[in-house]
Amino acid sequence: MKITDVEVICLRVPKIGSRCVWGEDAVVVRVHTDAGIVGIGETDSSPLVVKSVIETPNSNLACFGLKELLIGENPLEIEYLWDKMYEASNYLGRRGAGIHAISAIDIALWDIKGKALGKPVCEVIGTKFRDKLKAYGTFIPADLPEDNKTIVRELKEKGFKSLKFGGGVLGDDPDLDVEIITAVREEAGDDFELQIDLAAKWRTPEHTLIMAKRLEHLNLNWIEEPIGSDDLVGYRELGNAIKPMIAGGETLTTVHEFVSFLDIGKPDLVQPDVTRCGGITESLRVYELSRKYDVKLVPHGFSTGILTAATAHFLAACETTDLIEYSQSTSPLNQFLVKTPIEFADGYLTVPNGPGLGIELDEEIIAKYRVFE
Ligand code: MG
Repeated sequence: MKITDVEVICLRVPKIGSRCVWGEDAVVVRVHTDAGIVGIGETDSSPLVVKSVIETPNSNLACFGLKELLIGENPLEIEYLWDKMYEASNYLGRRGAGIHAISAIDIALWDIKGKALGKPVCEVIGTKFRDKLKAYGTFIPADLPEDNKTIVRELKEKGFKSLKFGGGVLGDDPDLDVEIITAVREEAGDDFELQIDLAAKWRTPEHTLIMAKRLEHLNLNWIEEPIGSDDLVGYRELGNAIKPMIAGGETLTTVHEFVSFLDIGKPDLVQPDVTRCGGITESLRVYELSRKYDVKLVPHGFSTGILTAATAHFLAACETTDLIEYSQSTSPLNQFLVKTPIEFADGYLTVPNGPGLGIELDEEIIAKYRVFE
């Protein structure tokens, strides 16, 4: 089998509701083969930048666009192709968007391998340790504290046993932060598992310590990215000082950045995003690393159903981790791009059982929102 084309599909929702943040765009990659098998992947990144990384013609030995490296290659040789892409895009890639693009292609290659072997990706990786994954729901908080009670009530009715919220106004105003988090805790109940995500908006360890003190009685499970991901010493200080787990890592690319994060930052929990850190291949390396450091791994995931499926297969194949993030974004790209969404019931997502990722895309949604053709 040979790769014949790498298709990059940029999607953009022109206007969506005010509560829908971070779901406005998506970039999907389809890897085509001469056997008629098509692999699907995505990365949660800037669509046009990713398209450029894949389609740019080479200008020197370390500035290859990824597409020309793949044409004519055997898609089943995933690790070889990962290394080939990484090395030949070294100047334009190595970290950041270069690795985001590799991530999308890597996921598509795993999809091809599963389809070629007639097995779900988790079984191609190795052992399927579980059929279901405990899912925590992520929502963007409403600006008014009381309005969050309605959101929490609806998500609890949907079956969630664990929730995270962040983005929107969270992190902008210390008093409002306390009011919002208090309202969510009141509605969720004392024993409900709750985590917050600051998307680095608390900025400094000093401010985070003050906020953690003010929120102590609200019994948060983890505090995610209170500060920027390069402040590794700040992460370590916080981990030593506060009771909730300190979590981070969604912006990190390659296992090399996770080595620094774990060595210096010493987080309680690492959150690689399968579509950003280097795909399923690199996520497995990060998982092995997290086990060596005895740190819990809970992947980041807030995009389309492609990401959810790729993350579910990765987690199903990891022996010691089973919690998955489940975006509650109202974006049509999150809700409808994948025609066969993963089944959610009673707090658990079912790992797809079909060959490959086990998903099919809705061509009407693609036609409706496609841009930059
Ligand atoms: Mg986050």
